[in-house]
Amino acid sequence: MPTYANVIIDISHEKVDKVFQYRVPEQLLDAVTPGVQVNLPFGKGGTIRTGVVVELTETPSYEEEKIKEIVSIEETAVPIESQLIALAAWIKRNYGGTMNAALKTVLPVHKRAQRKEKEILVLAALEEDAQIALAEYERKHFHAKARLLKELLLEGRIPKEFVTGKLHVSAPTIRSLASAGMLTVEKERADYRNPVKHVSGGARGERVLLNEEQRAAADRMIKDFQKGERHTYLLHGVTGSGKTEVYMALIEEVVAAGKQVIMMIPEIALTYQTVMRFYERFHDRVSILNSKMPPGERYDQYLRAKEREIDIIIGPRSALFTPFPELGLIILDEEHETSYKSETIPRYHARETAIARAEMTGASVVLGSATPSMESYYRAKKGDYVLLPLTKRVEERPLPECEIIDLRAELMDGNRSIFSRRLSALMEERLKKEEQIMLFLNRRGMSGFVVCRSCGEAIKCPHCDVSLSLHRDQTLRCHYCGHQIPAVKKCPTCGSPYIGGMKAGTEKVEELVKKQFPQARTLRMDLDTTREKDGYERILTAFSNCEADILIGTQMIVKGHDFPNVTLVGILAADLSLNIPDFHGAERTFDLLTQAAGRAGRGEKSGNVVIQTYHPEHYGIVNAAEQDYDGFYEQEIAYRQIMHYPPVWHMLTILVSEKDEQAAAEGADRIAAQIGREFPKLMLIGPADASIAKVNDYYKKVLYLKDQDYETLIRVKDSVEKTALEDPFFTRLLVRFDFDPAGGF
Ligand code: ADP
Ligand code: ZN
Ligand code: ZN
Repeated sequence: MPTYANVIIDISHEKVDKVFQYRVPEQLLDAVTPGVQVNLPFGKGGTIRTGVVVELTETPSYEEEKIKEIVSIEETAVPIESQLIALAAWIKRNYGGTMNAALKTVLPVHKRAQRKEKEILVLAALEEDAQIALAEYERKHFHAKARLLKELLLEGRIPKEFVTGKLHVSAPTIRSLASAGMLTVEKERADYRNPVKHVSGGARGERVLLNEEQRAAADRMIKDFQKGERHTYLLHGVTGSGKTEVYMALIEEVVAAGKQVIMMIPEIALTYQTVMRFYERFHDRVSILNSKMPPGERYDQYLRAKEREIDIIIGPRSALFTPFPELGLIILDEEHETSYKSETIPRYHARETAIARAEMTGASVVLGSATPSMESYYRAKKGDYVLLPLTKRVEERPLPECEIIDLRAELMDGNRSIFSRRLSALMEERLKKEEQIMLFLNRRGMSGFVVCRSCGEAIKCPHCDVSLSLHRDQTLRCHYCGHQIPAVKKCPTCGSPYIGGMKAGTEKVEELVKKQFPQARTLRMDLDTTREKDGYERILTAFSNCEADILIGTQMIVKGHDFPNVTLVGILAADLSLNIPDFHGAERTFDLLTQAAGRAGRGEKSGNVVIQTYHPEHYGIVNAAEQDYDGFYEQEIAYRQIMHYPPVWHMLTILVSEKDEQAAAEGADRIAAQIGREFPKLMLIGPADASIAKVNDYYKKVLYLKDQDYETLIRVKDSVEKTALEDPFFTRLLVRFDFDPAGGF
């Protein structure tokens, strides 16, 4: 009986977003399995395309004669595990986009990388014969030949690299010995490239003794795991409470049971320090992924996972798709981080997707954070997740003491500096004591955006509708599209010469620190200073080695290293993130402040935190100062409830974009009308301009939909997707979906 393959064609266009059926030729019957990529004729001209086989069947869905045949297997492509095909289907259903885009998501490495091969020289002659030849070479002063043969007699096998390098033997010499029958050249597969560079010693990492709370959390998860119970856990541990140690205790158990572990951490926290902690504990059974890795190295890590050479992978969002055959556990550290939500189509959330993958494969999920996302805490409270609290810092270290300083009062008292009097005094004192200080600013660029003081207009990017930032080289730059113009002397709107920077950026802060504290050594960490490879790591290490007294930075300094000598954290302008144009303003502010404050007093010495703000009474700021997560949560969830925002309700953003503003607007109107007809009870907001109304000359219109039922929103998506595909009006329009958005489009 003939076998048919249902195939997703590798074209990310809505028009071909369905399965196509092909016949599997006799000679390929063994090789074609779900997940394999194949070459096949596609379209009218029969152009050869590749596609992924998602299913095999014996019943044709079309007339026999119309079904074409697969041509061959695409040997250069990486096959997709069938588990991950199911996950791709889940992603497509829950977040929109094409199946092809979803398959690309679960397969971050597409091409097989060239495997490195090593050449080995092997002694081929009998030892006696080799000895005779050696004597002959020495007599004739054939030094190179003698050197090589002597070494071969000692070692038997030598890598060619070593021979041409250390032994200074040339290729003709090797060939000559080979033709004399002294040696043969063998090819050997090079070791998998291991990104974790060799550590000296390799001694077992020192074990800490878990404290009572850590032990209780770890035991609960371990016992469940041993009983075969699988759950999603929320490990809510204050900063410095030792969450990582709890993860490691659990990981050890899961690995001992022969299962594998995915440990996701935000890219920014993937520091040498973190990796070393895992490497010292789990040795070469652990590996890492990061976005700077070349594809070959990434591919190797996937292969090592598949072939069970490693048990643990550590990496950012994409690590979720590591093809472990027997996945037992997925951990998301800092689960509240927005980087867990994809910003490209499909806009999947790694947390929900991890839970879906875990359900498909019988794994547990652990979410960890000092400031859990509203979503996770809400679900934990409802009983969907198991809540495990760690309320104390390890070794009973106290939480830092936080003070809120009202910047309005400072100004009224005549202090025009960006440092309040209290912060200045504490900085002075800590510098004297040779303790370290972190200054946190939620900005980059020298003076932030530029505003005309006469007419109030900010200078904006003509393509993106966002404020341009003034840089030290006297250019104004757009942070979205990179558009750049020289700094202006006069307001382009009204001609006024009174034009200037509004708020200080990190460079400016550094300048001011140096002015006020000339003796202080400073380091600055922001997008500009970390652009080069390892820039981030280099700055953290320097600060860690006490090569500077003050580290000034953006949110990048909030996580990563532990700095035991930091006893003062200054938050210069706590309000800035309150103004982000979506409903997460308070949550992001609370997270940032709590995490930033948590940097102080992590060592033996206790710490102080000074929060400077224009909104000293805001609950996001007050609760952060008190390190009161529950207090914040109660107020924020009440607000979400009243406003029908996630997590209490679900939200779907639909984006419509086109170069022609009129067409974009009409498209959005038509979609709104359709939803009004088909889902009259649904709460619909808009259409409106996106928070950034124009990007790269595309006009963007958005619609927001809210409902208590996620499934209803999926049905809306399916219906709008259908219209966008079938209605000719939408041919040139882009229609995109974002479920429970983390930011704006
Ligand atoms: P978190 O991830 O909650 O911020 P970590 O797991 O990084 O905390 O722990 C902070 C520091 O405390 C680390 O240096 C860790 O080695 C140490 N630590 C964790 N648990 C213990 C413990 N039970 N006893 C002693 N030190 C611990
Ligand atoms: Zn003006
Ligand atoms: Zn721009």
